[in-house]
Amino acid sequence: MINNLFFGYAALRLNYTGLEDNRPEPVALSLPGEVSLLAGCTPDQALLVAKKKTLLKKGEDVRTGQRLRLFETEDVFLLSTVTGTVSGVGLYTGPLGRKLVRVNIVPGKEEVTDDGLFDTDNLDPASAHKFISQLPGRMRLLPLQGDLPPINELVVCAGEKDISVVSNQYALKHDGRRVADGIELLKRVSGVKKVTLAVPGDLAPCAGGMGARVLSLSRQYPAASPRLIAKEILGRAVPAAKPLAREGLAFISTETAAALGRIAQREAGVFDKTLSLVLKNGTSILVKVRIGTPISHILSLFNQSLVEGDYLIGGGPLTGVAIHDPDYTISPYMDGILVCAGEDILENGDYGCINCGKCVRVCPARVPVNLLVRHLTRGDYLKASDHFNLDSCLECGLCTYACVSKIPILQRIKLGKMKLRAMKQEVIDGGRAQ
Ligand code: SF4
Ligand code: SF4
Repeated sequence: MINNLFFGYAALRLNYTGLEDNRPEPVALSLPGEVSLLAGCTPDQALLVAKKKTLLKKGEDVRTGQRLRLFETEDVFLLSTVTGTVSGVGLYTGPLGRKLVRVNIVPGKEEVTDDGLFDTDNLDPASAHKFISQLPGRMRLLPLQGDLPPINELVVCAGEKDISVVSNQYALKHDGRRVADGIELLKRVSGVKKVTLAVPGDLAPCAGGMGARVLSLSRQYPAASPRLIAKEILGRAVPAAKPLAREGLAFISTETAAALGRIAQREAGVFDKTLSLVLKNGTSILVKVRIGTPISHILSLFNQSLVEGDYLIGGGPLTGVAIHDPDYTISPYMDGILVCAGEDILENGDYGCINCGKCVRVCPARVPVNLLVRHLTRGDYLKASDHFNLDSCLECGLCTYACVSKIPILQRIKLGKMKLRAMKQEVIDGGRAQ
């Protein structure tokens, strides 16, 4: 019986980019004259950086993989991605206005890997989380930290965060042995026995013999989103307010597993990141570049110059963020750089939401996007979270793609989540101070 005249028809179908057999090997790029490593910081830590009171000082020599401690707190550190000399420690404002600490290092002539990088026997849960999150390909959901319940299932994902990137597929297909070694290392560090490899269906033959059960993913975006994978594994959706970690699930990408495999085998190249570079003429090239390399260095190697009105997007076309500074550096989780000519970028519309409902129909998380967007536009983030499912958003970007008024919905959602986190942190810090 039809009991509702209104229905949603998800006509928008976007597929992930596949990894064709004839795709050339990644182009290995040279080291820049200086790398920059970035880390989030609390307001108190930012003050220490501003007063030049960090433990790490300009002029110190560092080795690849060395833990660079900035503050007294043991579990706060950066892993150096090169061997060289620290040329500066300062504050930096990243995309969406995030305050970051920036450590600049001038690489030396010889590369020496720090023995501590291979010392995986002494990783406690908090530092293991910090350590693994600085390897190439980080997924944000590794719950080895805090008061979370023990992990009972580890999900290693060869699916991608966006439609035009292939980093994780590449790792599975070309670094399979290292992925398997990385899975073994993770099992040892975390004590987890149950591992699932989530792979796009056509790559399932590459996933055999890795000590993991294989979950086949659809090619339709955003099937590789951790919450959608969790739904497949658990047979039910996890409520938005509940972190997946509370269900005992931990996620990492195959690229991270391959980096751990290199660590297990004491190999070089741990901090090389594979990413898709899309040039202004639309050519897509797979490149291998050291984490911390400024984007400007990569652009110069490909003779790409930016003129007024051009855009740099870090990530893919649906989930990427605009980068304001060509010297912004390659992070562990940046799987793509899009260099876009001004005319290829759609201007944000001057219109407000016309309530057409397209965004609602395409949303895989069933967020009432049209209502949410009104509160986000007004900056009413608390109401957006409490009443309009801000936290349920998977950050897939389909709503922005579909929006007829060209409202940058995903950017507003990301900003809203960031502001809310900061507000909650202020309340916690305020409570502690009393
Ligand atoms: S980005 Fe938009 S479409 Fe995707 S889950 Fe979030 S609200 Fe829904
Ligand atoms: S697609 Fe855009 S204009 Fe249409 S309801 Fe959603 S936010 Fe409003």
